[in-house]
Amino acid sequence: MRLNTIIIYLFVGVFLMSCSSDSDNDNGNVDPNNPKAGNQLPLGSSANDLLSDQNFSNLAIEIAVDDNVSVSNSALIDLEEFLEARTFKTNITITQRTIESPEMSPYSNSEIVSIEDNNRTLYNTEDTIAVFILYLSGQSENDEGNSVTLGTAYRNTSLVLYKETIDNAGQPLNTPSVSEIESATLQHEFAHLFGLVDIGTEAQTPHVDPDSQGHCNVEDCLMIASIEFASGMIGMNSVPSLDPQCINDLQANGGR
Ligand SMILES: [Zn+2]
Ligand SMILES: [Zn+2]
Repeated sequence: MRLNTIIIYLFVGVFLMSCSSDSDNDNGNVDPNNPKAGNQLPLGSSANDLLSDQNFSNLAIEIAVDDNVSVSNSALIDLEEFLEARTFKTNITITQRTIESPEMSPYSNSEIVSIEDNNRTLYNTEDTIAVFILYLSGQSENDEGNSVTLGTAYRNTSLVLYKETIDNAGQPLNTPSVSEIESATLQHEFAHLFGLVDIGTEAQTPHVDPDSQGHCNVEDCLMIASIEFASGMIGMNSVPSLDPQCINDLQANGGR
């Protein structure tokens, strides 16, 4: 008997635009006069640069944390393991720092971009590709009823997590812990930066969800659009993993 069922959607940002996987720049820096340009590209366009070591041997992750929230350590450990398993990076570093809460919830997509632009300090360098992760309290303005946004990947090397929404999703009975939901969200959104599914990393087999851009149609896959935590994660002792078809796609685009 199901007492409490919540449908939680992990959304790709609505301004997800480009599925282009062709790179006409050899190191991600499109404009030599703008050192930030290589980090201001559409979602999915740096999939190969994040997965392979061809242009960048290192990955530097900067986490900017709203001073009203905190980051789960175990979710970060899971993320690091996930990145080591799927990429060919020699060094992966994760640095965290606190930022003053913008207190503008609910957040629009353009507000997220401007918060990044005001707070991001790490950009691509010669051999290191940089990723920005924003942790905010409050919600996305796309939330409606029980359909809530836990996180969004919104640029080629940028994603946001809505920690208050994640905390609330972990409250009802029969749901996984907050840190498991946070961990799943982090990996799911990072996998969008890797170009899954078919948004910069071409799908090698037909497993694209026809109803949800950027998602997988394999039940239990990390990249499924909706995860019904009340029943879908019961029996799982850990966060969902990528299914073999998603892993195959990453391997075909330079991943491990
Ligand atoms: Zn998604
Ligand atoms: Zn999948």
